[in-house]
Amino acid sequence: MKLIDLHVHSNISDGTLSPDKLALYAKHKGLSAIALTDHDTVAGIEACTHQGNLIDLMVIPGIEFSAEYGDQEIHILGYYIDSHHPLLLGQLSRLIESRKQRNMLMLEKLNKLGFPITAQDLVSDSSSQTVFTRAHFAAALYKKGYVKSRSEAFQKYLGKGKPCYVKRSHFTPEECIDTIHRVGGLAVLAHPYLYDLNNSQLYALLKKLTSDGLDGLETLYATHSKEEVASLLSLCITFRLFPTGGSDFHGDNKPGLDIGIGYGDLQIPYDVLLAMEKKLQL
Ligand code: AMP
Ligand code: ZN
Ligand code: FE
Ligand code: FE
Repeated sequence: MKLIDLHVHSNISDGTLSPDKLALYAKHKGLSAIALTDHDTVAGIEACTHQGNLIDLMVIPGIEFSAEYGDQEIHILGYYIDSHHPLLLGQLSRLIESRKQRNMLMLEKLNKLGFPITAQDLVSDSSSQTVFTRAHFAAALYKKGYVKSRSEAFQKYLGKGKPCYVKRSHFTPEECIDTIHRVGGLAVLAHPYLYDLNNSQLYALLKKLTSDGLDGLETLYATHSKEEVASLLSLCITFRLFPTGGSDFHGDNKPGLDIGIGYGDLQIPYDVLLAMEKKLQL
């Protein structure tokens, strides 16, 4: 069976492999296609696609946006986007500027708490185009020995409401979906079970997003149980969404989670792409 992975991060955001190495690694792991879905940036797509073309790996241009939904942050993936579109590039430069200001404030907060971390400590594994996220802060705290794991860094310092958390500007879900559509893409709700929502709240979210034009739901995901996958497939039918799948691979920034297989038993069939392509042609 041909297998794929539609949720992958490179070191242009908070993964640790460069976009070209990511393509080589996906091919080495036997995948037929990946979607590069870095946070708030498309700067890795060209290099990843170029390497993919050389080794017969399909690379779908993607992105992962964060959006505000009540007091929650939800993630919306865009697929088949035109990564050169001026509208997209304009929106992204605003998000990246807001991240830069937020990162400076987070460094100040960490320093005040007694962790002498500098911007230089965030750059390991990165490139000149990297968009820095809280995952870079977690990696720096971990590498300096201030926490025992990256997740401890989020639990104690970086998570929402914790002492070093700083809010940044987000799109609304409608703005994310609209931007993705305007640049030719399909919009998909990422990892629906990572939010603090019960079943009826998830239903309400999907009802709202579908009315805003959502196209798909990330059904296969590294942490989803068989029961969760079944529930999501049934929601896909209810809301006429296509199911997608991805591991959310971040290289060494998510230890134990591998491309394609997630924590071991994830399998995303190539056929998932056919439904997406059909929708794209409508
Ligand atoms: P940001 O977009 O800067 O708020 O950072 C979000 C990124 O941090 C996510 O995409 C994950 O890669 C990572 N992250 C968020 N929460 C956690 C957590 N509890 N444990 C590990 N990584 C996390
Ligand atoms: Zn990430
Ligand atoms: Fe996400
Ligand atoms: Fe992700």
